Amino acid sequence: MTAEYTVQGAVAVITLNNPPINGLGWTTRVALTDGLARAMADEAINAIVITGAGRAFSGGADITEFGSPKALREPNLLSVILVLEASTKPVIAAVHTVCMGGGLEVALGCHYRIAAPGCKVALPEVKLGLVPGAGGTQRLPRALGVEPALNMIVSGEPVKSELLAMLPGQQLFQKISASPETLLAEALAIATEVADVRPLPLVRNLPCRHPQGDAYFGFARNMAKGMAKNFPAPAKCVNMVEVATKTRFDAGMTQERETFLNLMWTPEHRALRHLFLAERAASKVPDVPVDTSQRAILSVAIIGAGTMGGGIAMNFLNAGLPVKILEAKPEALERGVATIRKNYVAQLKKGKLKQDKLDQRMALLSTTLSYDDLKETDLVIEAVFEDMGVKQAVFQELDRVMKPGAILASNTSTLDLNQIAAFTQRPQDVVGLHFFSPANVMKLLEVVRGDQTAKDVLATVMTLAKKIKKTAVVSGVCDGFIGNRMIEQYGRQAGFLLDEGCTPAQVDKAVEKFGFAMGPFRMSDLAGNDIGWAIRKRRSLEKPQMKYSKTADLLCERGRFGQKTGAGWYDYVPGKRDAVPNAEVVAMIESHRAALGIAPRKISDEEIMQRLVFSLINEAARILEEGIANKASDIDVVYIFGYGFPVHRGGPMAYANEIGLFNVLQAMNRFAKNPLDDAAFWQPAPLLTKLAAEGGVFA
Ligand code: NAD
Repeated sequence: MTAEYTVQGAVAVITLNNPPINGLGWTTRVALTDGLARAMADEAINAIVITGAGRAFSGGADITEFGSPKALREPNLLSVILVLEASTKPVIAAVHTVCMGGGLEVALGCHYRIAAPGCKVALPEVKLGLVPGAGGTQRLPRALGVEPALNMIVSGEPVKSELLAMLPGQQLFQKISASPETLLAEALAIATEVADVRPLPLVRNLPCRHPQGDAYFGFARNMAKGMAKNFPAPAKCVNMVEVATKTRFDAGMTQERETFLNLMWTPEHRALRHLFLAERAASKVPDVPVDTSQRAILSVAIIGAGTMGGGIAMNFLNAGLPVKILEAKPEALERGVATIRKNYVAQLKKGKLKQDKLDQRMALLSTTLSYDDLKETDLVIEAVFEDMGVKQAVFQELDRVMKPGAILASNTSTLDLNQIAAFTQRPQDVVGLHFFSPANVMKLLEVVRGDQTAKDVLATVMTLAKKIKKTAVVSGVCDGFIGNRMIEQYGRQAGFLLDEGCTPAQVDKAVEKFGFAMGPFRMSDLAGNDIGWAIRKRRSLEKPQMKYSKTADLLCERGRFGQKTGAGWYDYVPGKRDAVPNAEVVAMIESHRAALGIAPRKISDEEIMQRLVFSLINEAARILEEGIANKASDIDVVYIFGYGFPVHRGGPMAYANEIGLFNVLQAMNRFAKNPLDDAAFWQPAPLLTKLAAEGGVFA
């Protein structure tokens, strides 16, 4: 049963029980309404308490039902709440731990509410591109007050119950229990106390007004639009709260419902729902069952205190794990530790970190020049130069000193993990942990699974990723893994666009208009143009037939490596990130174009965007069919969390599905006919061709 029914004296207790968060899917709704009917029918019962088992009162609707008729199947959430309101016996919601979305809407339909301290209360629907759809926008402003309710509804962020209970005049919670343990007993006491109260209080009958209505809502709407320009939902949330202050309750409910259902059909909601599920699915590896045993990771070592090593170390220090960094030279260690401290001090100055936390974290950090000091460590992550010879020396040393069962990880971005694993006698313990720069900030972690990586190693690092607040995606071994392998094709295509007639600024603008955080040239300036240069040099040996625009090489020959040298595709002023177009670079592109005998052509923003995004999609299709990625949604997670792909498009695969694979393929065929582009480049991945022919989607 997804809800249990028990009786305590004259009070019926309905306990939602649908782990992990007592989601309000159809079976739970049925169990809840059955419980209510049973309590109503029993003359010995004079009040009802609703609470939740385990780690939540309720986390809200069952998201897998969204967009399907199941969500509306009777009893839907609205009808459940109407049943609660119609109850002739008082209903008390006893909420704890998590009370969100539909869970909070159910509580708002009850006559009384008591919360345990520390309960996270939220209406997070906006994070899925929706407004609350079961009265949240109409009842919360009445119960809590217009402004705090609007803040909660527009942000979707949770607020602790005891803070809400302190708001003047609020009627959301009649009581905060002394502790989570006493919640039920205190709820039962309220039930007994109010058993004879009539008429029963309903949130819908509370007044709802704002003294400076028009000005306040106008301001709030502008803020919401400014902060979420690609999403319609935040401004709609403001509208709905405004409706609550200006319209009768029932009319407000109708408008809320209409808005909710309209948003449900928007691509933005589909993208956000997809990502919500994709992020959770990414942590599940098909052949690694959830009950796979895991290794204990209580200490971490990092080899190399450079750009990546320092950032990686911070993740573990933040999570309270001791970290030892090894370098070849004392100066490098000093520099690395100083950078970590500087980063923490910067957080302290911004008020994001307290001094005691800073001290605790720095106290967990130690350094060494000797491999022998690492032998007790559970996990070691190598972040030395990207050179197979250096990696070999490091892994042979690690193999010599590390205790049996220790996990040996590499942060390599391009090198063959299987080859690295083969430098040791224990390839089963070797895994890739590909962090993104800055490693203490970027959410994405590509977990690279070697041919021999043990399942318990994978299970362990996936759990560890959660502990350090990363979103981990498993990738097979290939050059560039999922993310960088795709970006290489995108970068090549960006080069062809320059040769044909674009400026870097035009390309960047078109891609940013599509929603990318940064266009390809600004991104390359940020990452360092020399990285791509090195890859192209390698490629010219490995795959001499592969076509590249030479423009980026010409740029690097001028020493314009990007932000770090103050000059790349753009100019940069020290201390600022603004990209200022440079006339010499444009002239360089033009003269190279002239040397190739190309007459420039005006290329539309639409074509620019399609050529770049479809480059990603085609390579992604190959990655999927080769089994480098386990599922299409993993690729979306990589691109959203690691490469600034527009969230409202759901990732490259979801976007391709949205616009239709047939249309993607047709455009690619058109691009292939352009003599200045590269027909080989646009050779479609067999999977894309197949799915487009079948009318299928990436799954
Ligand atoms: P880096 O040059 O900033 O740092 C490398 C550090 O390793 C230096 O401090 C160096 O002194 C140290 N080192 C070199 N050889 C060593 C040895 N034998 N023993 C101990 N220490 C040694 O380089 P980085 O950018 O931090 O890159 C490190 C690794 O991370 C590379 O494999 C790179 O491909 C990968 N990576 C880099 C990025 C990035 O954006 N920089 C992103 C993801 C992955």
